[in-house]
Amino acid sequence: MRPVVIAVAITGSVPRKRDNPAVPITTSEQIESTHEAFEAGASLVHIHVRNPDETPSSDPERFAQVMEGVKRHCPGMIVQFSTGGRGRDPSARGSALYLKPDMASLSTGSVNFPSIVYENSPALIEDLATKMRENAIRPEIEVFDLSMIHGARGLADRGLLDEKPHVQFVLGVKNALPAREHLLDILVGELKRVLPKATWTAAGIGRHQAEVMEWALARQADGVRTGLEDNIRVTRDAGAAGWVRLERLANCSELICSAVCNNGAQGRNHF
Ligand code: ZN
Repeated sequence: MRPVVIAVAITGSVPRKRDNPAVPITTSEQIESTHEAFEAGASLVHIHVRNPDETPSSDPERFAQVMEGVKRHCPGMIVQFSTGGRGRDPSARGSALYLKPDMASLSTGSVNFPSIVYENSPALIEDLATKMRENAIRPEIEVFDLSMIHGARGLADRGLLDEKPHVQFVLGVKNALPAREHLLDILVGELKRVLPKATWTAAGIGRHQAEVMEWALARQADGVRTGLEDNIRVTRDAGAAGWVRLERLANCSELICSAVCNNGAQGRNHF
C-alpha cells in the first residue's frame, strides 16, 4: 500500500465565519481545528493567519502561535505556512519564514482569480524561494497553470530549488484552470517531463474538491488536500467537529484504497 499525505487547509484567506461558522479564525481555534483534522488522519496543515476582523494577516507572531500549538498537540504533523497573496502586502508574504516551518507554499507565476490578478512577480518568487532555501524550508510549489511548472524548473536551474520539489496542482479556481480530469493528466505529464523526481498532490476548489481527490489518488498522487480553505461546505452539515469527508478519506471507504500517512512521522518520511 502506498502512503498518501492528507493535507488540511484549515482557514485560507477568503472564507469568513458568515460563510461557515466552523472557519477557524483565532489562533486557538486554528490549533483546535488542526487537532481535529490530525485525529481524523491529516498529517500536514496549511496555515494562513487572520486579524481579529477576519482579514488576512502576515503577522509572524500569529504564525508562531499556531505552529507552537500544532507542534504541542499534533506531534510530528508537517507545518506549512502560506505565502499566498490575497489581501496581504507582497513585501510581508515571506515575513514569517524565519520561524522555519517544515514547508511553505510558493506560487511560481501569476494567474487570474475570480476578481483579482494573483500577482507573483519574478522578483517576489525568487525572494521567497531564497528565504525558504536559507531557512531549510521545503517549498510546496502551487501550480495554477502549466507555465508554473516551468517556473519551478527555472528555480531549480538557478539553484533555488532541489530536483525533488513537492508540487500542488490547483484546479477549479474561477478564471484559472477548470477542474477537468484531462487537465490533471496534462499537468502530471508535464511535471514528469520537467521535474521527474517531484512529489505531487492536487487540490480541487469548491464543489470539485472530492472529485479532484479521486482523480489524484487514481494517478498515484503522493498526497491530497481537504479543508475549509478550498471548500466551505466540507462541514456545513456536520458542524465544526465533522470533517466527514476527511474521515471518510482516511478510512478509504469510498475512494481508491491507499494507506494514508495518518501519523506525522510517516508523512515526513514521504515528502
Ligand atoms: Zn492557502
